[in-house]
Amino acid sequence: MPGFELFGEKEKQNVQDVLETGVLMRYGFDGPRNGHWKAKELEAALCHRMQVKHAQVVSSGTAALTVALASAGVGAGDEVILPTFTFVASFESVLAIGAVPILVDVDDTLTLSPLAVENAITPKTRVVMPVHMCGSMADLNALKTLCDIHNLILLEDACQAIGGSFEGKPLGSYGDLGCFSFDYVKTITCGEGGAMITNNPDFYKNADHYSDHGHDHVGSNRGAESHPFLGYNYRISELNAAVGCAQIARLDEFVGIQEKNYNIIFEALKNIDGVTFRRIPMGGVQNYSFLNFFLPTEDITRKAHLAFGDGGVDACFYWYDNNWHYYRKWEHLINLTSLGRLPEEVQKNLPDYSKTNFSVSDSWIGRTISCLIKLSWAETEVQERANKMATIIRDVLKS
Ligand SMILES: *Cc1c(COP(=O)(O)O)cnc(C)c1O
Repeated sequence: MPGFELFGEKEKQNVQDVLETGVLMRYGFDGPRNGHWKAKELEAALCHRMQVKHAQVVSSGTAALTVALASAGVGAGDEVILPTFTFVASFESVLAIGAVPILVDVDDTLTLSPLAVENAITPKTRVVMPVHMCGSMADLNALKTLCDIHNLILLEDACQAIGGSFEGKPLGSYGDLGCFSFDYVKTITCGEGGAMITNNPDFYKNADHYSDHGHDHVGSNRGAESHPFLGYNYRISELNAAVGCAQIARLDEFVGIQEKNYNIIFEALKNIDGVTFRRIPMGGVQNYSFLNFFLPTEDITRKAHLAFGDGGVDACFYWYDNNWHYYRKWEHLINLTSLGRLPEEVQKNLPDYSKTNFSVSDSWIGRTISCLIKLSWAETEVQERANKMATIIRDVLKS
C-alpha cells in the first residue's frame, strides 16, 4: 500500500517549485506564488480521477472526515454509525464535532454489515460511515438504500481504499461524501494530508470555509473576507500538496502493481482447504492494498500469524489483537478517557462499549489475517513469499 515506497523526481520537482516561490500557504499571495497553486492543482486532479464536482484537500485524513461531517451540518448529539473494525481516526472525527460514534458489527466484507446498520438507526442518526478497510469496500448499494429510506448521509471513509471502485464509480464518490488520507503509509502520500470529495455544492462550500477558519474566500484581500460561520484550521501546506500532485498521477500505476502482487499470493493460497477470503460485494473492485483471508478458528489464526512472524513473512496483521484497528483494544473510547470534559450528549449517549455484544465482529476479525501488499517487491520475491505463506498455513492447519 505505501506510496512512500515509490518516490520519484516529479515529487522533488514539485516541492522545488514551491520552495522557489517561498509561498508555502495555499491561499493568497497571488503575485509572489508565480502561478503555483499546488493544493488547487491536487483538488482538480482528484475531481478528474474520482469523477466528482468538488474536492477539498486538507491537512490529514482525520481532518477530512471531521470537515466532511461539519460540512453536512452534523454536530453535538447527532449519531454516526460506523464499524467496530476501522482506524481510531474514524471515531475521533465524530467526537471532534461533539457527535456520538455508534459502533456496529462488521460481516464477511470486513466492513459495515447493512443488517447491523439497520438495527442501529434511531431518530438521532444522521450519518452512516462505511470504512473501506484494507483495500475493499462495504456493500454500498445496500447502505445507500438504507440511507435513502431513512434520509441519512452516506459518508465513505475511503482512506485505505483509494483507487478501488463500486458499480463503476471510484470509491469515495458513491456516497454523499467521501474521504481519503495521504499520510505516510497510505497508497499515495503527501507526508501528511487528506481530502474530502462530494458532488454537493453546499457541502463543498461549507468545507472550503470551515477548513480555513470560516473564511468565505471571496475577493483577493484575505483580511477583508467575511466569516459566515465558525471554522477551524485544517489547511494543507503547499509543500505537502506538491508531493500529492505527483503521487495522484501515479495512483493507477500503484494499484496495478498491487493487483499483480496480490494475485501471485492469492493464487498460492486459494486452493488450501481451510483458507477462505474476504467477500468483495458484487460490483466492487478492490485497490489490492491488502490480501485478507480467514482461517477456521481464532486459535489457528493466531498460530498462523505467529508462524508468519517466525518464518520471516513480515507485514501481515492480526487485527484482533492490534491496538489501532479493532474496538477490543480501544480502552480510551470504551472508558471515555479525555483530557477535558466531553460534551454532555457524548457522555450521556455513548453506548457502554465494555458491555456491548460484538460477537459477530469477533467471529470474523478473530479469524482474519491481512497481508500488506508492497509496491517495491520484485516478482521472484513475491513468488517466494507466496510459497512460504502457503507452506506455513498448511503446516499450521495440519498441526
Ligand atoms: C489513515 C486512516 C484515517 C486517517 O488518516 P490520517 O491522514 O492518518 O489522519 C482514517 N481512516 C482510516 C480507515 C485510515 O486508515
